[in-house]
Amino acid sequence: MQEQYLEEEHLMFQEAVRDFMKREVIPFHEQWEKDGVVDPEVWKKAGAQGMLCMDFPEEYGGMGFKDFRFNAIVSEQISKAAASGLGFPLQNDIVAPYCSSYFTDEQKRRWMPGMVTGDIITAIAMTEPGTGSDLAGIQTTAVKKKDHYVLNGSKTFITNGILGNLVFVVAKTNPDDNYGGFSILAVEADRKGFSRGKNLDKIGLKAQDTAELFFEDVEVPLDCLIGQEGAGFYYLMHNLAQERLSIAVIGVATAEACLEETIQYCKDRKAFGRSIGSFQNSRFKLAEMKTEVTIARTFVDQCVMELNAGMLSQEKASMAKYWVTEMQCKVVDQCLQLHGGYGYMTEYMVAKAYTDSRVQKIYGGTNEIMKEIIGRGMGF
Ligand SMILES: Cc1cc2nc3c(=O)[nH]c(=O)nc-3n(C[C@H](O)[C@H](O)[C@H](O)COP(=O)(O)OP(=O)(O)OC[C@H]3O[C@@H](n4cnc5c(N)ncnc54)[C@H](O)[C@@H]3O)c2cc1C
Repeated sequence: MQEQYLEEEHLMFQEAVRDFMKREVIPFHEQWEKDGVVDPEVWKKAGAQGMLCMDFPEEYGGMGFKDFRFNAIVSEQISKAAASGLGFPLQNDIVAPYCSSYFTDEQKRRWMPGMVTGDIITAIAMTEPGTGSDLAGIQTTAVKKKDHYVLNGSKTFITNGILGNLVFVVAKTNPDDNYGGFSILAVEADRKGFSRGKNLDKIGLKAQDTAELFFEDVEVPLDCLIGQEGAGFYYLMHNLAQERLSIAVIGVATAEACLEETIQYCKDRKAFGRSIGSFQNSRFKLAEMKTEVTIARTFVDQCVMELNAGMLSQEKASMAKYWVTEMQCKVVDQCLQLHGGYGYMTEYMVAKAYTDSRVQKIYGGTNEIMKEIIGRGMGF
């Protein structure tokens, strides 16, 4: 985030988050990568530090910060610390808006304080084995009985899928209605009939838990419905702009962090008696990357301010997600190349960023779907 967009309180928060990463995350992340999941205690420590659901009202433990710059600071510091195992952005940027906008007062009392302290870890389950991009094709159903829904179906690729103890499940409550038939149910992980598959083995994001979830005749009380029955699709569409911007924030921060590392590497590493940065090719590559990262940064910061003002359109959020994640993957690849063989070693940040970055073009709506949205915005 460009410093001029940050005020005194943001800078203080940024410093505190940076310290937290140094103290509580960086020394342990390698172990978490081997474990395939972070220690859940780090969620509680982050909660105690005020890094979770900062926008929730103070009466529910939050700080009432209605300013996405705070969310962006958390995500950026995670990227800069190469701590991709932390699923905080999912809770802060993607799940929290559903809670703020659609929770009843009773649901706020029940779940918000735990989400702030890190005792409650959330997940959002849309994707199914048979469908991802085409959300209207989901097969999970929630059939309404007298005082509960009966939930049946399975979900896959769910972030926080192993640690999550409150899952927001998208299900069809009216299978005959393509878009009006969706609802979102909050499912506590101890409900009978809920189970998890294995922690999925991925090429990157090694410390982040991603899992399949199964729902077999799970009885979900009616008071666990989020907002109105049948309004799920509308809620999803409404919140996707923030989700996409959240991914772009991670994208630009990762590119910046890799570039910083690479500039230093190019100064330190010698070949043919000169620093490798002094070769024209290296200098030009660095110049191109610096330019593109700066353009991305300017655009993302502008989108953050538009989101704060309630002005960020779906199309613009899609542009940010698409363009910034393409830029991220390109920059990370070029940074790796400038590291030579060391870039291929996982102890180097660029190597980890290389495998971590790839998914950015896929989740949160693939970049092809982003282009569809941008194209539709032009009347096609
Ligand atoms: C690490 C990880 C974490 C994830 N976390 C979550 C999560 O927390 N919750 C969740 O619900 N999901 C999650 N996902 C799922 C993710 O959002 C989906 O993988 C993604 O939306 C794509 O869906 P799909 O995998 O079914 O691919 P498909 O939809 O089958 O797409 C396959 C290919 O076809 C292309 N395609 C599809 N439709 C079109 C079209 N109309 N025009 C042009 N091209 C098209 C796609 O762009 C893609 O290239 C996660 C995925 C990963 C890998």
